[in-house]
Amino acid sequence: MPKQNIYQLDERELIDQVAQWGFTREAGAAIWRCLHRDAPGSIQQVLGVPAALVQRLDEAYEITPVVADGQIGASHEGVLKYLLRLTDGVQIETVLLWYGRRRSGCISTQVGCACGCPFCATGQTGYVRDLTRGEIVGQVMFLQRELHAVGEALTNVVLMGMGEPLLNYTNTIGAIRRIVDRRGLALAERRVTLSTVGVVPGIDRLAREPLSVKLAVSLHAASDELRDRLVPLNRKYPLDALFRSIGDYVALTGRRVLLEWVMIDGVNDTREQAEELAYRAQGLHVHLNAIRLNETPGNKWRPSSVERIDAFTAILDEYGVPHTLRQSRGASVAAGCGQLRGSRQGVRTTPDQSAFAGSRASEDPVLDEGRVSLDVPSGTAGEAHVEDPQI
Ligand code: SAH
Ligand code: SF4
Repeated sequence: MPKQNIYQLDERELIDQVAQWGFTREAGAAIWRCLHRDAPGSIQQVLGVPAALVQRLDEAYEITPVVADGQIGASHEGVLKYLLRLTDGVQIETVLLWYGRRRSGCISTQVGCACGCPFCATGQTGYVRDLTRGEIVGQVMFLQRELHAVGEALTNVVLMGMGEPLLNYTNTIGAIRRIVDRRGLALAERRVTLSTVGVVPGIDRLAREPLSVKLAVSLHAASDELRDRLVPLNRKYPLDALFRSIGDYVALTGRRVLLEWVMIDGVNDTREQAEELAYRAQGLHVHLNAIRLNETPGNKWRPSSVERIDAFTAILDEYGVPHTLRQSRGASVAAGCGQLRGSRQGVRTTPDQSAFAGSRASEDPVLDEGRVSLDVPSGTAGEAHVEDPQI
């Protein structure tokens, strides 16, 4: 029988299994603790339990995902992008962002994506399958392991990698529970951000979960005519429905929603779009996060110039809509969503402090509201999937 992903089990299932094998429940609990605190690289590295139990465990379970072709670009920009291989051989992207004191993991929730946004490399590959809860948790533990190797630990998780998390709702929420569970990874709930393209029933459901995670909505356009083109799912959940859902979310949770806006030259960076956006966002507890388009192969669009972004955000200022322009990072790391999976370049290295020595550690990503606080290096493509949207 093929080995199972051990992170797919919940605590009780693991303890029951260990007890069934004739070992104590305490031993099961010790394995659980080790798996989440120490992030071992293999079952053989599980410590603090009898060797016979480790052997038994190793016959039935494995730690997955593992590095496939490697880590791309130990980058001075503070971005490490990994291509990971799942048990069935399919590959996903997982990104480690490193700046200031923040260590953020950008995690995938699906292999590919069915939503087909034309500017997104993942959208162009189509949908392959959902990730299991264990595979989502496994990515987080993989990054934790990489960080432990250099005496560091994850501080934040953003569900902004490949796929649409709210179209894989149960597994995504199950994974988040594990990430925030005090007996799991024990990250604070507010340090987890879920980004959705605007799956209205999913947002409505998330608003009722007893989980104080942050929500980001990929808006990109403020008229249905344009959003139908940029975000095909808008035809199913148009802007009125989406903003009703966002409003309800804010009312129910009291939490601010982040609106993401990929800046595309001459397409959604116009005065009309800024005014439509301001009209819809005004008075709502939201924050706009503008990101320059990251150019992807076969994509006809270009990122907005700094001047056009300035003009756009000036209109938001007029209406009092808070916004931030995220700095582009990781353009040298082979890029946007899904691109790495196609290109498979690079060699594996372990992150170390020197790899990040050039990162602008002074850039605290906790940004001032309503200000363009980080500039975009000219000629550098944006990198949405390596952005930490925390505000
Ligand atoms: N499916 C979810 C989460 C993954 S995409 C969503 O769409 O929100 C994460 C973010 O990356 C989204 O805001 C998405 O619009 C953005 N993105 C995708 N391709 C991009 C590109 N080429 N340049 C800039 N941002 C991009
Ligand atoms: Fe899917 Fe998000 Fe890419 Fe759209 S932007 S295709 S929803 S991953």
